[in-house]
Amino acid sequence: MIHTGKCPYCKKQIAYVKAQDVDIKYDVMVQWRGYSYQCPSCQSIIGIQMNPHILNEELEGDILKELKKICR
Ligand SMILES: [Zn+2]
Repeated sequence: MIHTGKCPYCKKQIAYVKAQDVDIKYDVMVQWRGYSYQCPSCQSIIGIQMNPHILNEELEGDILKELKKICR
């Protein structure tokens, strides 16, 4: 796949982004695990999102808990 986007900071064409784990802090008590996406040329952060794999695991756990309550 050829990606034609350019980094908004260094203006170089981006063939891929580097993903890195990052903690997202909402306040002192609330924190989520996330990914940051960085330009491979200048390392600028282009985007951040919550870690979708962790969200799926948490959702799975919550659904199982509720199903167990219903099945009792
Ligand atoms: Zn860049």
